[in-house]
Amino acid sequence: MKIVRSVREMQAESDKIRRAGHVIGFVPTMGFLHEGHLNLLRIAREKADRTILSIFVNPTQFGPNEDLNHYPRDIERDETLAEEAGCDILFYPPVEEMYPAPFRTAVTVAEITQVLCGISRPTHFRGVTTIVAKLFNIVKPHFAVFGQKDAQQLIVIKQMVRDLNFDIDIITGPIVREADGLAMSSRNVYLSPEERKEAVMLYKSLMAAKTLIDSGERNADAIRAELERRLRQAKTAKIDYAEIVDTQNLKPLETIQGEILIALAVFFGRTRLIDNIQVSV
Ligand code: AMP
Repeated sequence: MKIVRSVREMQAESDKIRRAGHVIGFVPTMGFLHEGHLNLLRIAREKADRTILSIFVNPTQFGPNEDLNHYPRDIERDETLAEEAGCDILFYPPVEEMYPAPFRTAVTVAEITQVLCGISRPTHFRGVTTIVAKLFNIVKPHFAVFGQKDAQQLIVIKQMVRDLNFDIDIITGPIVREADGLAMSSRNVYLSPEERKEAVMLYKSLMAAKTLIDSGERNADAIRAELERRLRQAKTAKIDYAEIVDTQNLKPLETIQGEILIALAVFFGRTRLIDNIQVSV
């Protein structure tokens, strides 16, 4: 596995791969790799001749009081895991390489970035779309794989790709979970033993909502109430949102119908975790 730290070198490598007629599959991450990330890499490997994984803890997607400085990092471990999973190139640029001063441009997607996570993290998606657009221009992939774990991010990126005509397919990887149902996340290491135990309530409440829908409940407020009732059983939990929205426009639903997204963001202590399921009715 080759490790590339400069933008110029990454672009040159990708040009070389493309000139050889090979397909590039790309997995962007913030590192501290886990099975969720590695599964995206495996999906990429199935369809690509060459896989590129990026690790960049992107400062512009963190708010002023968020965990940028504490975000977990272990590049040596990540290198080993990425190589074992068959990654061809690890792109691991320093911050100055990605945001050389003066940096004055941003990519913003309207409306769908202002709901759900956009309410408590108003500048988050602008940071995400800006860095992903940059990474697309640097890595020049034919396709990129993103996790369903960040459902809103995926929808926002698909919108950006369509609106700005990026010639890149966006592929979705399923949510990879721990044995008890907790969605894998680099942030899970922040949880105390008690918070870790209670965090399983995210998945349990999503499953309870699905059971209600399967048994015929169509009133979205009744399901929201059940989600909140379950989440409140966890003493360390503080709900950011528990929403039921349309998967296309992320607008809140009154009636359960069509393709719906049930999305949660909950603080366990100081750690904000997200999870979701999609249900078709
Ligand atoms: P992150 O490093 O958290 O920014 O995530 C990088 C990519 O991995 C994003 O596309 C995430 O949606 C995806 N991802 C993170 N956790 C999981 C998971 N548990 N299952 C599937 N994909 C995930």
